[in-house]
Amino acid sequence: MKFPIIRDIASRKVISVGINESAQSAIELMLENEHRNVVVIDKNEYFIISVIDVLHLRKQEIPLDTPLNKLELLRIPVINKNKNVLDTLEFLNESIEYICVINDDGSLYGLLGHTDITSNIDPETLMDNYRLQDFLKLGCRMKWVSKDEKISDLICDMVSAAYDNVIVVEDLKPIGILTTKDMMRLIKEEVDLNVAVGIHMSKPVDSIHKSSSIKDALDFLRSKHYKRVVIVDDNKKLAGIISQKELISLTYSKWAVLMKEYQEELSEINIMLEGKNKEYETIASTDSLTGLYNRYKLSELYISSSFTMKQRHNEMSLIILDIDYFKKVNDTYGHNAGDKVLVQVAHALLKILRNIDVVCRWGGEEFVALLPTASMENAITLAEKIRVYIEELEIDVVGHISASFGVAKVVENEELQSVIARADKALYLAKESGRNCVKTENDI
Ligand code: GH3
Ligand code: MG
Ligand code: MG
Repeated sequence: MKFPIIRDIASRKVISVGINESAQSAIELMLENEHRNVVVIDKNEYFIISVIDVLHLRKQEIPLDTPLNKLELLRIPVINKNKNVLDTLEFLNESIEYICVINDDGSLYGLLGHTDITSNIDPETLMDNYRLQDFLKLGCRMKWVSKDEKISDLICDMVSAAYDNVIVVEDLKPIGILTTKDMMRLIKEEVDLNVAVGIHMSKPVDSIHKSSSIKDALDFLRSKHYKRVVIVDDNKKLAGIISQKELISLTYSKWAVLMKEYQEELSEINIMLEGKNKEYETIASTDSLTGLYNRYKLSELYISSSFTMKQRHNEMSLIILDIDYFKKVNDTYGHNAGDKVLVQVAHALLKILRNIDVVCRWGGEEFVALLPTASMENAITLAEKIRVYIEELEIDVVGHISASFGVAKVVENEELQSVIARADKALYLAKESGRNCVKTENDI
């Protein structure tokens, strides 16, 4: 799933005024641009003034030439346009309907509403599966009146109960609607409000059947540019009213649950893949009989060790060892006994060598140890220690065995093959000299 960047989904059709302008100029801008709100800018802070605020002004009899900085406006959060839509989720709650999108320099880029956020996280699939009637059970708030109700009485009700619309019904069938936007126009036109709502209501009112899907309802809202939809039952009687915001936040809650599940599923897959990766890496780098590194892994580790050696001006040596008369072991006691000998020798090497040393099964009954920071002298001492240890091993069935050793010192910038070749020559010399001994490249 891919999540969009805020700049791609923010609405750029935003109108703004400075905080020192008057409320009147904000209202004029709203009406001119057919917007429900205006962003009010105070240096780096952003506020919003909406139609409902205008109704409040009217109710409290605040003069329209009052500067905006004298009003209590709602501050809105700010987000950089380059952020991801997921970064906005913390703001998605009931009280915050808009987020200001800003450029890198802090100037206003656009406005991001609930709709912009949630409809860009692909709610479609979710919304297809939900019917309006499922959401109505949650008890959406609605106010409905008869057409004889007085508009002036409605203003007080709407402001105190924070309804942004009333539905006008006859025989419980919706025949009209009066929204805060209609109210504002009436106020601006200084219409007498002591009249029945039926006179000024918008009619007829579009409605949608309660068995419609959320997606249908949202498509309907988008096409009509409505903020809310009136819902009717089979008899065309009022069943409820639900706002775009409610539809979206309900779907969003469901979406959030799904996303969480999706994330959990993803991280499970990740953990499994990581495990598999490690498994394959181990298979590719170790010898299955002894568990030591194989020669491929040694080549890899040789490169990094040589680099460290060069950087720190350290010495590095290498030991190659080969079990003496191993063919005889196999021939006398069988291949399985031979395998056990190989495992025991591997354990001996791991036991005696240091953590920083790299021990590998070079092939057959030959082993190589790469010894970072070890001088030739150190390496000889270590080889001798291993030789004695192997010689003294009491191996089941097989009894005693021995091994021969070749030691060489790594030269700066030298390839692995080249140092192995010198160590091999020393090993050959050790075999020539009667076996069970340590020889170095200096003895050649
Ligand atoms: P030398 O002292 O000269 O090294 O004599 P050697 O018998 O040890 O040398 P040679 O190279 O002739 O024989 C090595 C034997 O190691 C031959 C091969 O069958 C055996 N071998 C190689 N890999 C394995 C293995 O994985 N398991 C067992 N059991 N034997 C192995
Ligand atoms: Mg051999
Ligand atoms: Mg051998």
